[in-house]
Amino acid sequence: MTVRDEDLRGDALEVWIDQDLCTGDGICCQYAPDVFELDIDGLAYVRNADGDLLQDTGATVLVPTIALRDVTDSVKECPGECIHVRRISDGVEVLGPDSADG
Ligand code: SF4
Repeated sequence: MTVRDEDLRGDALEVWIDQDLCTGDGICCQYAPDVFELDIDGLAYVRNADGDLLQDTGATVLVPTIALRDVTDSVKECPGECIHVRRISDGVEVLGPDSADG
């Protein structure tokens, strides 16, 4: 099953990174710089709506609707397979290695 953009529309989504698997290549930061950023430890972390980098391992932020496509591309291209997007309403992963089509 392939998750399409229209399947995700209307559901609030959140994203987190499993830093244990992050390779630090920075691909996600290129695709979605408003959502992902490399910290000084060389690993990617999420940024909140204020642009603050959340340095706690596995920290979660809301996926801005405007950034959904860029976040989706990040998940698809992430070599560490460590970006997870889940629906907030039921906690189901809809994009990422633990999703139905992951
Ligand atoms: S694309 Fe994946 S492996 Fe690469 S920096 Fe981002 S989270 Fe880490």
